[in-house]
Amino acid sequence: MTRLILTLVALGLTSMPVAADAPAHETQAREIYARIVGFRTAEGQKQTPAMVAYLTDVLTKAGVPAADITTLDSGEARAMLVRVPGQGRGRPILFSAHMDVVDARPEDWVRDPFTLLEENGVFYGRGSTDNKAGVAALMSTILRLHDGKLQPTRDLVFAFVGDEETGMLTTKLIADHPWVTNAEFAINTDAGGGLLDDATSKPLIYLVQGAEKTYASFELLVTNAGGHSSRPRADNAIYQLARAMLKVEAYHFPVMANDLTRAYLGAVGQAQPGEVGDALRRFATDPTDAAAAETLSRSPEFVGTTRTTCVATMLDAGHAENALPQKAKAVVNCRIFPGVPVETVRDALVTAIADAGVQVTTIDTPEASPVSEMRPDVMKAIMNALHEKYPGVPVVPYLESGGTDGKVYRTAGIPTFASSGLFSKPAEMYAHGLNERLPVSSFYEGLDHIFQLAVELGGAKRAH
Ligand SMILES: [Zn+2]
Repeated sequence: MTRLILTLVALGLTSMPVAADAPAHETQAREIYARIVGFRTAEGQKQTPAMVAYLTDVLTKAGVPAADITTLDSGEARAMLVRVPGQGRGRPILFSAHMDVVDARPEDWVRDPFTLLEENGVFYGRGSTDNKAGVAALMSTILRLHDGKLQPTRDLVFAFVGDEETGMLTTKLIADHPWVTNAEFAINTDAGGGLLDDATSKPLIYLVQGAEKTYASFELLVTNAGGHSSRPRADNAIYQLARAMLKVEAYHFPVMANDLTRAYLGAVGQAQPGEVGDALRRFATDPTDAAAAETLSRSPEFVGTTRTTCVATMLDAGHAENALPQKAKAVVNCRIFPGVPVETVRDALVTAIADAGVQVTTIDTPEASPVSEMRPDVMKAIMNALHEKYPGVPVVPYLESGGTDGKVYRTAGIPTFASSGLFSKPAEMYAHGLNERLPVSSFYEGLDHIFQLAVELGGAKRAH
């Protein structure tokens, strides 16, 4: 405690008011949180090296050996790895958070996005949820293990990613690092969490991310010799593309299910009334129930968990009012069910369109990532960590439609489970948006969540 206060004074970190009776690790984590929200770690701002320098300084002053800290550079961003050495019994566990944020323009915010503010039980600031609370939780866990002289049975490796919101190039460097390549599994703080009832704040369900859909876009292109619009021809690039687009609209990818999606849909169905709830429960029991799948296909909330979806998102054609179009193109964005190769989806679109004059090209090089099968030890540790505070809350895996570092780790062969420990109300999701916020109590619960997972899964005990 005394050393901590001295450290904070030395770092000039005593400006934030904190409750006098707060445990030392909470005071410390809150100071770190306040400092890191102050780094504008958005694309193009080049702030990740400064943030890494600050975090390194905190760890070094706390006595973490320099040999257990390393940095990785992609050219655009810097990442950091910290190792808490174990006793060599078992393969390492990776814990991950990302330091970068989606940019925020101070003039658009009610409060300065890069100053952590506490108001009426809520923290405000860019990254307050996504994902600087996770960074603070990893830092807090390392410092608590270190201060408590808790030695895990196996290495625990803590990853601070520099560019999750953009290229994930530092994530790939992390996945290839010798401390990480042999990891048995990873805990990602950047997704997974509990839902509270909007009206009563009662905890409804806790979701653990075990897979992500593959994001892929395709360009559909039709070219034509064109000509003068006063002399129309039978073939026209716009009509030809329009016909192709209607076939894309009419095409439905096959219904798919795996253990993870069935567990998720079944659990959500328990809390869902009416026709959709009924369909969820029936589909979870029997994914070949075509009527249930049909009902879910009409629900924007659930269709993505039952199949690959593709939808037209952009259109661009013609070059002059009085000219026949020489070119018409569209973009179709797909969210691909785990395990389905991108090429299979492209082939399905080509077959559905059935017109050799429409070129279908994959945009960029999307990578598919596998499903991480739920591990009983991980699910049990997550439940143990949650049930003290939220007894009986159901803990259920889910398929993410967005994207996180988890897909890079899974592609590298490291099963990854995202669990932040943070509970929030669906009406209060502000990640990437204006006035991002996190309830103060959730922040502290998130610290304990990650610490408890590290202790239970890592077998951390006081060294003698
Ligand atoms: Zn994130």
